Amino acid sequence: MDADRRGALALIGGGAVLAAAPGWATSLSLPPLELTASQLTQGGWARGIARGGLTLDLDGAAIPTAPDGTFLIAFDRDARPAATLSGKAANGWAASRGLTIAPRAWQIERIDTPLRPPGVPDTAFQRIRADEVAQIAAARARVTEAQGWRQAMVRPAAGRVSGRFGAQRIYRGTPGAYHTGLDIAAGSGTAIHAPADGVVVLAAAAAFTLEGKLLLIDHGMGLSSAFLHCSAHAVREGDAVRQGQPIAAVGMTGRATGLHLHWGLRWRSARLDPLLFLPAGAG
Ligand SMILES: [Zn+2]
Repeated sequence: MDADRRGALALIGGGAVLAAAPGWATSLSLPPLELTASQLTQGGWARGIARGGLTLDLDGAAIPTAPDGTFLIAFDRDARPAATLSGKAANGWAASRGLTIAPRAWQIERIDTPLRPPGVPDTAFQRIRADEVAQIAAARARVTEAQGWRQAMVRPAAGRVSGRFGAQRIYRGTPGAYHTGLDIAAGSGTAIHAPADGVVVLAAAAAFTLEGKLLLIDHGMGLSSAFLHCSAHAVREGDAVRQGQPIAAVGMTGRATGLHLHWGLRWRSARLDPLLFLPAGAG
């Protein structure tokens, strides 16, 4: 990219905009690439629109666009502070824009005891777990036409937030695994609703060892929700669900110390903060 073109990039309204290069401005009245809504922070996301058939990549990874040009990108809990969104047109025009990903102040608890080394699981557990992990991987690999990724999400269950995404314990300087979802404490059988439109890609009939009765919903474009520890499911694999539809009930199946819903959100392999997908104040 030459300096001229780099100079044509602009930030408008907090969203990254690739202003048209010479020749483009005459054929397009709107910028070829812009973010239309965003939470540019670790665990956050952005939606945007690419006009004129641009092909996109984020840090070198191809980003698909819907037929109307809209797209979704998201940022892992430990995402680096800078990312680059690039667009290329069929005529060779190309530009890129740096995105600043704000760091988060995660809830960190320092524990003055050493991290206990994990015990060696017995072979029966290892066999069962390998099968469960394979089922989860197969479900996550499914590509659906779900459109929920376009929506502002709704809270899947009423109840007190009992565990925040990203929280981590540090044992005498050694970090333990961080919390990968949002915990909502609720009574047994409390209805769980779909936070956005989607397709059920996994409804574990028997409780998994860790996740319990796990429900996975694909929202399209690489975005998916996981609902852990359910007492029962109200939908089956392959079902299309609408935002707000009852999908399951709160329980404590699998490895859970109390009745709660653990709601995890992922985009591709990036783990996301569910609170950033809800309207402000809905947490
Ligand atoms: Zn949890």
